[in-house]
Order: sequence, then C-alpha cells, then structure tokens
Amino acid sequence: MISEKKDIRALSKEELRTFFESIGDKPFRGNQVYEWLWSKGLHTFEEMTNISKQTRAHLEANFVINHIEVDSLQKSSDGTVKNAVKLHDGLIVESVLIPTKKRTTACVSSQVGCSLDCKFCATARLKRMRNLNPDEIYDQVVAIDKESRLYHSRPLSNIVFMGMGEPLMNYKNVLEAIDKITSDEGLGMSSKRITVSTSGVPKMIKKLADDAVKFNLAVSLHSAIQEKREQIMPFAKSFHLTDLQESLEYWYEKTNRKITYEYVVWEGINDSKEDIDALVRFCNYIPCKVNIIEYNPIDDGQFQQASNYAIQNYITALEKNRTPVTVRRSRGKDIDAACGQLANKH
Ligand code: SAH
Repeated sequence: MISEKKDIRALSKEELRTFFESIGDKPFRGNQVYEWLWSKGLHTFEEMTNISKQTRAHLEANFVINHIEVDSLQKSSDGTVKNAVKLHDGLIVESVLIPTKKRTTACVSSQVGCSLDCKFCATARLKRMRNLNPDEIYDQVVAIDKESRLYHSRPLSNIVFMGMGEPLMNYKNVLEAIDKITSDEGLGMSSKRITVSTSGVPKMIKKLADDAVKFNLAVSLHSAIQEKREQIMPFAKSFHLTDLQESLEYWYEKTNRKITYEYVVWEGINDSKEDIDALVRFCNYIPCKVNIIEYNPIDDGQFQQASNYAIQNYITALEKNRTPVTVRRSRGKDIDAACGQLANKH
C-alpha cells in the first residue's frame, strides 16, 4: 500500500530544520534527523535514539521513510552482481556491481524504464514509467557498497550512471543524489569517481557546465553521422549532432574536462571507412577519449557485433589521430547485467 504521508527523505536539510522550528523544537534537530536518514541510513524513526520519544511519535504521524529493497540478487561467474531493486511503489529497477582488479564500480539506474528509444537497448523497450527520486538513486549506491564490502572485502570505488534511464532527463534528482553521495553527510565519495552517461541532450549538457558539476561526463555517440544516428537512436532527430557538438564545446570551455564517447561498432551499420572518418572528425572538436563497448545482443538479431577487424580499423584511425581509445569487454553477460541488457527480465 502506498502511504499518504510525505517521504521525509524528500526534504532538504534546510526544510527539516524549518519543520522542527515550526513545531517549536530546535532547528538543530533537523541536522540530527538528516544524519540518521542519510549517512546512517536508518529506515525507522524508532532507532533515532537522540530524538525524544514524543518527537519521534510526531515524525511517525507525519512522515514515512521510503527506502528501496533488494528484491533479488544474481551473481555472474565473473563476479558481477545484479540487483533487482524494489521501490516503495512496487516498481523495479536494476543496478549492477562490477568488480575489477583495482576497483569496484556501481552501475546505477536513474529512471524506471527510459525516456529514449535506442534501437539496440533492452531498457528502451520498457518505456519510461517514472523518474527515480534522489533517495532511490542514493540507496542503490548504498546497497552496492554493502555488497562490495561483503563479496569483495572493499568499499565501492566508482559510480557510473549507465543503468536504466537517461540521467539528463531526470536532471534535478540525479544532481541531488550526487550531491548526497559526495557530501560528508552522505557517503563522502569523490565526484571524480562518478561518471554520468548521456545519450546526448545538448541543452542539459550546457546546464551541467553552467552548474559547474565536478563529475565526469560520457556521451553515447555510436555514430557521428546524423542520418545514421537517427536510425539507431531515433530521438537524435530532436537532438542534432551539430547541437551536441556545440554543447560539448561549451562544456569543455567551462569545465576544461575531457569527454568520453561511448561507441558500439555494429556489422554493416557503422563499420565502414566513412563511419570511422566521421568519428575521427568529431573527436577533433574537443579533447576526448573513445570507449569502444562490446555489443550485448538483445534478442532480435538486427544488430550484430562488428568483426575484430572493423574494431581494429577504428582503433588504428583513432590512435593515428592521437585520440585515446579503449575497448571495454562486457561484464555479467550471463545474468543480463551488461550495458543495455537491463530489462527486468527476472
Ligand atoms: N541513457 C544513458 C545511460 C544508459 S545506457 C546513455 O545513453 O548513455 C549505458 C550505455 O550502454 C550507453 O552507452 C548505451 O549506448 C550502451 N548500450 C545500450 N544498449 C547496449 C547494448 N545492447 N550493448 C552494449 N551497449 C549498450
């Protein structure tokens, strides 16, 4: 049942302080409750031991503490863990823990389903149901941090917004979540270890630059030819490559930080010399690096991973252009936890 009471975690620290003042208590009480809710991660008012019984009852009467629950957990043979996360209204999103030798990365979702319609992505078939709230994003990170400590005996080191959804279409909540993740009253993680991945929403990329964010930005490019990009990512009709380019130049001018382009190479779709030349040209607009992602098939066979030969052609051309390039192998494929495979199949 969905409660009519307000989720207390939707209140900022300032709002909590005002609330306590309004009931004749000390504003400082707001700071205490904020700490219980975020850095200490409590799910009940009862446990807030430095708050009087009477005040706790008052909180109980007015608010709920919404929180996620890990509904099911799947482990891949390569150590990747996929969480199906249940939200307070019963909807499910997925998040993934990806361990490597040196780091553990959390791949988190920003929306239930997705606003966009990329033809090669399983999440796109779910359509967008709603945006995630800041606490729902934050909680995914907390859950993965716990799992990282439990299964890999080390805390989480990095976060990527590459799960379900388009983070820049849930701008405010994603930024609020990152604020909490990086704040000392939250998880105290460094923004340098956070990467937001976007399909490329020019207006919002400019807004990120204006807001002087400190995290990294990755853009899922997949083609630097407008007509082709529209075929594989239909929303690109509204977000033209020339606008994307302009917004990225603006980003670099303001932040002085490199962009990562994510790029999947598909057979017969973007594996020709023309495609490679277009990408190399695009890479010369601002300092960047290219991450070639292995394709994770999503059933219908329209898209096939290109040959190693085609990928090598990309690498050779980019290296000749002095553009750093890496090839990222998939993780967690056996449990459908790899990029673009998150579709609540369980
Ligand atoms: N909406 C954001 C973040 C989610 S997708 C974005 O588009 O960047 C995370 C990454 O996975 C993107 O680079 C996306 O293009 C890629 N991806 C989607 N489906 C994929 C698939 N089937 N195989 C490999 N990568 C995929």
